[in-house]
Parts: sequence; structure tokens; C-alpha cells
Amino acid sequence: MAEKMTHYEQVVHKAREAFMSGKTKDVSFRKQQLKALKLMYEENEAAFCKALAKDLNKPKQESILLELNLLIDDLRHSLARIDEWVKPETTPTNIVTIFDKTLIFHDPYGVVLIMGAWNYPVQLCLLPLSGAIAAGNCAIIKPSEVSSATAETIAELIPKYLDNECFQVVCGGVSETTELLKQRFDYIFYTGSPQVGKIVRDAANKYLTPTTLELGGKSPLYIDESVDMDIAVRRILWGKCINAGQTCIAPDYVLCSKQVQNKFVDKAREVLQEWYGDDPKSSPDLCRIVSEKHVERLAEYLKDGKVVIGGDVNKEEKWVSPTILVDVSPKSKVMTEEIFGPILPIMNVDSPYDAIKFINDRDHPLCLYLCTSNSEIQQAFIENISTGSICINDCIVHFSIHDLPFGGVGNSGMGCYHGKASYDTFTHRKSCLVRNYNKIADAIGKKRYPPYSEKNMNF
Ligand code: NAD
Repeated sequence: MAEKMTHYEQVVHKAREAFMSGKTKDVSFRKQQLKALKLMYEENEAAFCKALAKDLNKPKQESILLELNLLIDDLRHSLARIDEWVKPETTPTNIVTIFDKTLIFHDPYGVVLIMGAWNYPVQLCLLPLSGAIAAGNCAIIKPSEVSSATAETIAELIPKYLDNECFQVVCGGVSETTELLKQRFDYIFYTGSPQVGKIVRDAANKYLTPTTLELGGKSPLYIDESVDMDIAVRRILWGKCINAGQTCIAPDYVLCSKQVQNKFVDKAREVLQEWYGDDPKSSPDLCRIVSEKHVERLAEYLKDGKVVIGGDVNKEEKWVSPTILVDVSPKSKVMTEEIFGPILPIMNVDSPYDAIKFINDRDHPLCLYLCTSNSEIQQAFIENISTGSICINDCIVHFSIHDLPFGGVGNSGMGCYHGKASYDTFTHRKSCLVRNYNKIADAIGKKRYPPYSEKNMNF
């Protein structure tokens, strides 16, 4: 263990020395690193797809669309805007400082730790990294050990493309991460479960290190009869079936009336048949569950309601078919734990207001999905529910818009990123007031000096 401590100390020390050298303050260095990262994705698409297929049986199309393209797009966006982002801001002044100048400088924090989760193992580690680089930080990247093939690929490729002193990859599981977290970082960006998020926060507290926590939970979906059922069901099932439901922003459960439920289930049966055929297990377009342990967990949920579609489980093959459950109880496990698999339970509610109450009686969601063409209902959900984000009449797609900050609230997380929000996350805004010795300004400010009197209270 002592050896490992020495190793982690060295890793952080190396990054800190690199930061102190001022190398990352140079915007052209940052741009060059961002370009190198983009090149890494472009030149290694096959290697990343292979690793993702090994870890999760991820179809190539999903790997490209939801991991690599997203990363490349983000880098294009950052490279096009970084010169604008890094400029110091100015602000209006007050009466006392009317002749003076205010500035807000954008300081990098220093050495940041980025810890990713296994479900989108490239994107969740490396999307925050682009923000850290753009803002001028050094970074230690800790991919999830659960998606080990992808972790190895990241560890092999990053040193070939990025500056080896500023950006380092550390691999390992719980014990290694526990040791790593004992080091002093200037910022920690964590993606994963709320349970581990608390461990990360505890570790960060030792040095009062600021953190962003991108966590999970249940993302509810309300649907009513005003929708185009064919389009709505396709969008919802796509959101639930990509990555076999192992998506932090997958719609977790559906709230609707009994009548809407019947139409929804009929249409879902038709769509799933069209997409995956009679034997979804043989479809190349469905991922596998990450581990046998998670298959066992998901299989338990099937006991919590009536299976109307799917319900096929094979532990050895890490397989759970796209499944719809009805007649579930709000107190059951499937309705109280984050599902993180291709199982969609439907709960009946009598009105949109009952749905709002149901959601508000639980932890704040990471995302709230709402399928309705009724603008009053849309407004009622927007105004009355605290959630990380809302996507109306689709699922997941809001995640791809660079200018929409992405993050949770309460149990689903704190802080946000994507586009400019990533740059802001890894930036300390340092306020600065520059005064001069202007005599008039000094006369205005003179009242502050003793001896005090009642009349010099206001300027
Ligand atoms: P995980 O097991 O891959 O863990 C995430 C990270 O925490 C990894 O780097 C892992 O090594 C580390 N870790 C795990 N246990 C630890 C411990 N005891 N001490 C220190 N470090 C530890 O991922 P997970 O937690 O199973 O991920 C699934 C969860 O992540 C779900 O709740 C999901 O909703 C959430 N998630 C959130 C987002 C988001 O963007 N908000 C994205 C993906 C996943």
C-alpha cells in the first residue's frame, strides 16, 4: 500500500509541477491539446468501438453516435469558442468606483481529478477532460474499472496524444481509487452513483476541494393522450433501449392513465418487433448488461409487476430483453431504486397533477421527461418540479446540445457541464478592481473615513 501511495503522490506531484510551470496557461497550448484529443478519437475509432463492444456489446453505431461523435463535436465547439471564453470579463461599477475598472479573470483550478462511470466509459471520462483542458488545468483521469477494456484503451492512447506531464491516466478499482482520493486535488469531477458520490465528497472535504457530482436516480416520464403515439413511443423506447437501459438519463418509469397505458403498450409491442424481430437476443442492435450481478438485480425487478412485453433473462449471456411492466406498486423495488436496465414499469395516475405530486414526493430527478402537446401541462411541470433538466416530447436528445448545461440537483448531483458550462466548471472567476488616484473619486469615497457620523452613512 505504501508503494501505491508513493505512486499516486508522484502522479499528482508531476501534474502539479507541470501546472506550476505555467504551461497550461498558454491558450495556444490548450488548443493544441484539444486538437490532439480530437485526432485521438478520429484515428482510433476502431479501437474504441472494439473496447466498447467487449465491455458492453455496444453496437458500433451507438459507440460512434453516443460516445465518439459527441466528443468530437464538443471539441469542435470548444475550439471555435475558446478565444472568446478566455477573455477577462468586465462589469458595471458603483458610484464610489465610477472612474475605475473591474475585471473577472478566468483562473484554472490547477490539478483536477476526473472519475468516470462504466456505462458510457469513453464519453464520461473524456467529455469533462476537454473542459478541464480548455480552462487551463492539468488532469488525472480515472476511468471505471468495470469497463476494463475501455479503461485500458484510454490508458494506452492518452499518453500518445496528450502532454504526458499535464494529463495522466490512473486505472484501478475501489482500493486504488480510495488511495488516489487521499491526494490533494484542486477540483474533483465525479460521475457515478449517489452512494459513491458521498464517498468522493467526504474525501474532497479533507482539503475543501470543490466538486462536481454527476449522479443518477430515477428519471420519470409522464405521457398523455395528446401525443402522436407512434412518434412518442419510438422516442421513449429508443431512450430506454440504447445501452440496454444503462443510461443515467434513460426514462426510468412511465406515469400515465390506464387508457394511455393500453395504447402505449400496443404501440411498444409493434415497435420492438419492428426493431429487434421475434428474437431480440439475436439482434446486433442491443447491448448486454455489464455484469451477471446486475442481471440478477434486474431479474428481481420482474417480480414487482406484470410483464406485458419481454421479461427474458439469461445470466450467463448477461441478457435482459426490453421489458414493460404494469401493475407495479409505488413501494416496490422497481419503483424505488434506479433501474439502470431495459425494464420500463408503468404506474397509473389520474391526472398530470397527480404525476407532479408523485414525482415531488421523491428525490429530484436527473431528467424529467414529458410527452404532451398541451402547453398548460408543460408549464405546470416546468414550474412545479425541481429536476436537473427537462426534455419535452423526446428523450436523451437534450444531452447533445452544447449550450444546455447538463447536471443534476439534490440527490441527482451538483454542478453541470457541456460546452461553455464545462469551461466554467473548471474555471475560478477571480474578481479584480483596479482603482487609480483620481481626486474626484477620492472625494466621493472620503465619507468612509473616521471620524464617523450619522450623515456619512450613505453615498
Ligand atoms: P462505477 O462503478 O463505474 O463507479 C464510478 C466511479 O467511482 C469509478 O471510477 C469507480 O472506480 C469509482 N468507485 C466505485 N466505487 C468506489 C468506492 N467505494 N470508492 C471510491 N471510488 C469508487 O459506476 P456506478 O457508480 O455503478 O455508475 C452507475 C451510476 O452512475 C448510476 O447511478 C448512474 O445513474 C450514474 N451515472 C450518472 C451519469 C451522469 O452524467 N449524471 C452518467 C452515468 C452514470
